[in-house]
Amino acid sequence: MVSPLVSKLRDILGKRKVLDSDAELLCYSFDATPLLYHKPDVVTLVDSEEDIRLVLEFAAQEGLPVTTRGSGTGLSGGSVPVNGGILIVTTSMNRVIEIDAHDMSATVEPGVITANLHALVEAQGLFYPPDPGSMKISTIGGNVAENAGGLRGLKYGVTGDYVLSLDTYFIDGSKIRYGTKCLKDVAGYNLTKFLIGTEGTIGIFSRIVLKLIPKPKTKTTFLALYDDIVDAARTVSAIISRKVIPSTLELMDSVTINCVEDHVNIGLPRDVEALLLIETDGHPEVVREEAEIIREACTANRVRSLRIAANARESEELFTARRNALSALARVKPTTILEDITVPRPVIPEMMVTIRQAAEQYGITIGTFGHAGDGNLHPTCLTDERDKDEIHRVEQAYEVIFEKAIALGGTISGEHGTGISKAKYLPKMVGSKALEVMKRIKHAFDPENRLNPGKIFLPTER
Ligand SMILES: Cc1cc2nc3c(=O)[nH]c(=O)nc-3n(C[C@H](O)[C@H](O)[C@H](O)COP(=O)(O)OP(=O)(O)OC[C@H]3O[C@@H](n4cnc5c(N)ncnc54)[C@H](O)[C@@H]3O)c2cc1C
Repeated sequence: MVSPLVSKLRDILGKRKVLDSDAELLCYSFDATPLLYHKPDVVTLVDSEEDIRLVLEFAAQEGLPVTTRGSGTGLSGGSVPVNGGILIVTTSMNRVIEIDAHDMSATVEPGVITANLHALVEAQGLFYPPDPGSMKISTIGGNVAENAGGLRGLKYGVTGDYVLSLDTYFIDGSKIRYGTKCLKDVAGYNLTKFLIGTEGTIGIFSRIVLKLIPKPKTKTTFLALYDDIVDAARTVSAIISRKVIPSTLELMDSVTINCVEDHVNIGLPRDVEALLLIETDGHPEVVREEAEIIREACTANRVRSLRIAANARESEELFTARRNALSALARVKPTTILEDITVPRPVIPEMMVTIRQAAEQYGITIGTFGHAGDGNLHPTCLTDERDKDEIHRVEQAYEVIFEKAIALGGTISGEHGTGISKAKYLPKMVGSKALEVMKRIKHAFDPENRLNPGKIFLPTER
């Protein structure tokens, strides 16, 4: 029996765009965050701005919650519809509206897949740097909503650094376009910057203008192997303190290396304690000079071996291995809990020691990898959600890790957002006054708390 809700939505959008079977709802009840599931009441596959407006107007009449979803690769539960209601899925809004090669910008719909945009702009000698590990699946809309980072974030910045303009629908069905294609625009409050990273709680992006830059002329990729992870961590700040900003500076510990090697089998050594994947790009002369400084920083920090990728294929293989880190770890045990702390780079060695000690103290397995050049680490626990005692110990270990990150001047999330999983840590991180300001902003845009409720503010156990 079709419910009145589904039947009314089908009248509005047409049958094909409205899903309500148990199996379909189950598919949209989780994202990439472990231990978080909730079915929406109905799923709508919007493929135009008009569809978004119609769904929002309908939800307003019925007083229903609305949650937006891109590809569901989020790692803090952002697109899980914890209060049920209508799920708006944007993956059919996947048109690249314009690539302005002359003035270097791209205008896209929110459901465009990140890697597809890379391929299109690079074919024209242009570059869109943000490259989250999930880029072959994630959408640009999800990237903007989470202000996603990536492997190239150290030199080139994160998604928010490339957003020029956003068309945004609010919960009442109204829409604003804020920002232009201009690189400078200070008319009024900077609503574009404000909307970036709001995790689908303030508005729904329907059209996004992104800044592009020229594609770097050349690059050199290094694989640096270490017998001691602390030496690898020291190398990170040694490179930065020598005033070189590589385009990529990624770390993997031995647990991660072994899982990745089991998964992709590209000959990574299994007996090292850590590796760094380092890349410098740009003009050939600059790349040559930076490569020398990187070599010197690695040697000064007891690198066991340092290898340069022989060609583009080998370099791509190393990057693919790194991007596979989470999937490789996820194969080992039924539940993978990935975290996302960021600390100032000089204290990465101290943070790594704390992670190792917390794993030992609570008798759990943690593999750590991450964008170490940004100070962004992903301590990832391999566990089993059915083992309640172990899950309790995992929570305790993460408490220790978060406390330490905050004490070191770091943050509880570098790129995955607050969502549900970090909500309980947010008050400690930002303080009660800042939290109050955030709540007032949310209330001003969404007084009935119907747009992606249950995220950022409400503390929820995992
Ligand atoms: C293997 C793997 C690797 C990852 N690597 C990285 C990484 O390197 N860096 C990084 O930052 N993240 C990474 N992530 C996390 C995730 O991929 C990013 O947060 C990504 O931006 C989410 O995009 P999505 O399309 O899947 O969004 P979803 O998961 O569907 O949604 C994420 C949030 O965005 C909101 N949202 C989605 N679309 C819109 C829209 N059009 N308007 C408004 N709000 C919207 C949702 O409501 C939700 O709150 C990784 C995830 C995985 C699984």
